[in-house]
Amino acid sequence: MADPRAAVEAGLDALERGGLRRERRVLDSPQAARIVAGGKPLLNFASNDYLGLANHPRLRAAAHEAIDRYGVGSGASPLVVGHQRPHQEAEEKFARFCGLPRALLFGSGYAANLGILTTLADRHADVFCDKLNHACLNDGALLSRARMVRYPHADLDALGRALAASSASTRIVASDAVFSMDGDVADVPALVALCERHDAWLVLDDAHGIGVLGASGRGVLEHSACSSGRVVYMATLGKALGSHGAFVAGSPLVVEWILQRARPYIFSTALPAMAAAAASAALDLLEEDAGIVQALHANIARFRAAASRLAGLRASRTAIQPIIAGSPEAALSASRRLLERGLLVPAIRPPTVPPGTSRLRVSLSAAHSAEDVDLLVSALAEGAA
Ligand SMILES: *Cc1c(COP(=O)(O)O)cnc(C)c1O
Repeated sequence: MADPRAAVEAGLDALERGGLRRERRVLDSPQAARIVAGGKPLLNFASNDYLGLANHPRLRAAAHEAIDRYGVGSGASPLVVGHQRPHQEAEEKFARFCGLPRALLFGSGYAANLGILTTLADRHADVFCDKLNHACLNDGALLSRARMVRYPHADLDALGRALAASSASTRIVASDAVFSMDGDVADVPALVALCERHDAWLVLDDAHGIGVLGASGRGVLEHSACSSGRVVYMATLGKALGSHGAFVAGSPLVVEWILQRARPYIFSTALPAMAAAAASAALDLLEEDAGIVQALHANIARFRAAASRLAGLRASRTAIQPIIAGSPEAALSASRRLLERGLLVPAIRPPTVPPGTSRLRVSLSAAHSAEDVDLLVSALAEGAA
């Protein structure tokens, strides 16, 4: 009989040889535009903290206050006794903020997507997924045991044909709103129209759109001036909103069904109240002052204008700006060269992106100064020359 450890060793060796073995960097600072990692100060273009809220004084104060009033752990799943006042208030705030009737707080975006898809889909359902969707939408579809149909990225003709050919009792289209490794935005009005025509749910994952898209950062629904009772909207709190967790929002009917049935909701401890309170504070901040969102938009525009001649730069209007290098080695060596200059820009490699499209993935933040953006662009231009 084979030693099961041998297969694991062989797997790790294969990762190593393929340049695909990942290593973590230990941060000795808060998440911010400037961080300290491995004793070294770095200008950070790697985080999803798009608005610089992860260490914002308002969010810190809200978290401290929640700890003082509600303690650290929630102590139970939400349906047992873990749903505290800050969770309830956060849900009401999210619903208002994104303009949907009701919202439900989850422990993470990953758990939320598993919860949505396993609640709405079963063995008799068809789930249609964009090829470039985030892994957790795919995992949710797989776990639901529905038939999973992956359509070519953003190919809505192909999606329309697949929907027309489906005779499933339940149809669900699942799409990233902002594609996490490319930064492009899904055509939500066209997706809504298709879902209405073919009686399907539209699950929209706005992890990278909330706080980023729309003039006031309300996300893809504001950006596309679009709403529909078909939409099941998911947005995370751990990216632009600077906290942790996620919410699912939509019609009262579908949110109530998810609350009753979603296993990641029912069988998992509620978020700490401080995470909910910090996320609420982020929404208050954005409602009072759209200046933070506008600062991010200004940095995106500055980067795009300065970097337009870089080979491999993909079209993106969001905080995610990919520059395709090709092989994992090419992306890694470009990332290492930037690191030597104190610039942290991650190399993204398979399986996160398709083979042959390894890339540098620049994440911009409202907390970057114009000089930070200029410094990055000139380093990228020199590296490419
Ligand atoms: C980060 C991310 C998630 C997962 O959210 P977490 O709260 O980090 O679990 C889901 N979908 C997309 C598109 C993401 O980028």
